Amino acid sequence: MNNLQDFRQQFRQLYGNEPRLFSAPGRVNLIGEHTDYNDGFVLPMAIDRRTVVAIAPRNDRLVRCLSTEFDDQIEFELSADLKPANDWANHVRGVAACLLRDEYNLRGADLLITSEVPLGAGLSSSAALEIAVGHGLLKVAEHLVDPIRLALAAQKAEHEFAGTQCGVMDQFIACLGQAGHALKIDCRTLEYEAVPVDLSEARVVIVNSMVKHELASSEYNLRRAECEEAVRRLAGHLPGIQSLRDVELEEFDQWADALPENIRRRANHVITENARTLAAVEALKLGQLSHFGKLMRASHESLREDYQVSCSELDLLVEIASRHSGVFGARMTGGGFGGCTVNLVKADQVENFISEITEAYEWVAKVKPECHVCQASGGVREESQ
Ligand code: ADP
Ligand code: MG
Repeated sequence: MNNLQDFRQQFRQLYGNEPRLFSAPGRVNLIGEHTDYNDGFVLPMAIDRRTVVAIAPRNDRLVRCLSTEFDDQIEFELSADLKPANDWANHVRGVAACLLRDEYNLRGADLLITSEVPLGAGLSSSAALEIAVGHGLLKVAEHLVDPIRLALAAQKAEHEFAGTQCGVMDQFIACLGQAGHALKIDCRTLEYEAVPVDLSEARVVIVNSMVKHELASSEYNLRRAECEEAVRRLAGHLPGIQSLRDVELEEFDQWADALPENIRRRANHVITENARTLAAVEALKLGQLSHFGKLMRASHESLREDYQVSCSELDLLVEIASRHSGVFGARMTGGGFGGCTVNLVKADQVENFISEITEAYEWVAKVKPECHVCQASGGVREESQ
């Protein structure tokens, strides 16, 4: 991130003392969508866009928060009984409350937040914020940080303070992302494996549709409930299953007809997406980018047809990308109903891809997409600059 010195200076002017700086990345999920809360597999990568929090401890229990994204300063007293409020700082409150409940002592603090991760675009600015703030609050109170414990506390904050029943992927990758690698995460055991993303031949290009439909949060929670319903119904035939992760495709095919159509479609997506994600990890390890790209495209189809979380703008971006000869694969990424697509593009075709998709999308959607060629970046860290 540029201008960390200026940001430090801004903090000094606002609060009159010297901050420490912590940053956490946004993320793009290469494949494995809506599988995390089904105990499944995901393959996200932390991106080279970060949220930075400047923080200085106080000698009382007050937390004061400012963000370069919002005009209002938010204040609250540290307490495990904090409740969500009607303002931008719920992720900050939430992570503080969940860390306190996790029996960490925290100190009051002054915070200034800035971000290169676009808000509400599906690149998880919310997890980047939670993890940067959570890490900062722990460090200024002189705790050692256990990254997985922090990720779980932040996930809880998102559930209770932002109202999204998310899986653990976003917070996990914001903590544990590694430069040059995507992480294959087993969301049941929380075991993970860093998989090199070799950028000699191809680039990961994020294209922001610039739309966000209102449905996103309510439909997300509904999908989660539908998956639970699928497990309840399938457990009648397949005793012992805990989640859709436990259902093999052959078993599912045997019992699928007994499910209501919407439930069958949701389950079909999750079960096939887990298989695609594992296959994609192998393809990436072997440098089989064409195969990886086919799996991305199949993932998009499944999200559109069976999980029904895409929208016309995302479909349009994937269609345009799929027609481009330099594209290995494209799919929506994140929860859906707007936000971004992720595209695997031949290195020497990136410029041409960006100009073509920009023109073609703007022509139809009447809004210019933002494109970002991204590098796999590291997880949360202290900035020494
Ligand atoms: P996404 O995670 O896809 O970017 P969300 O709706 O989950 O979208 O999170 C966006 C919300 O997170 C914002 O409305 C705000 O409450 C909070 N947030 C994220 N980044 C910042 C920031 N830099 N400053 C203040 N609040 C932020
Ligand atoms: Mg979010």
